[in-house]
Amino acid sequence: MFGRGSGVSARWDDPDTYEGKYPPDWDFRRKAVYERDNYTCQHCGVRSGPHAGDGGAVLHAHHQIPLNRGGGNHLENLATVCQSCHDRAHGHPTGRNYENRGYNGVRILRRTGNIFMRIIRRFL
Ligand SMILES: [Zn+2]
Ligand SMILES: [Zn+2]
Repeated sequence: MFGRGSGVSARWDDPDTYEGKYPPDWDFRRKAVYERDNYTCQHCGVRSGPHAGDGGAVLHAHHQIPLNRGGGNHLENLATVCQSCHDRAHGHPTGRNYENRGYNGVRILRRTGNIFMRIIRRFL
């Protein structure tokens, strides 16, 4: 079920396959993204992880195309950002949703959007 020992499973690429905002293998995914991006924020270039140790910037993996706009969890859609760039990208504090696994506002929005589009299409 896991590809190439990385712990990332392609079956969770589609956010419709699990409950909540983050896939069950999110921890593996975000680490794979940090590693690919060399633990460097893709917005401001601040470095963390092995470069800075525990005192470095907090890194997040950011969905470049948000899930509620049809983006997936595949690694190509994820970018390493530091916490402050991430907050700025979203316009509100980030990083708490991950701790609260019950959060599913994005999913509800997405679902509502899909239903809305389905209704629209029916009338076209
Ligand atoms: Zn940054
Ligand atoms: Zn984000």
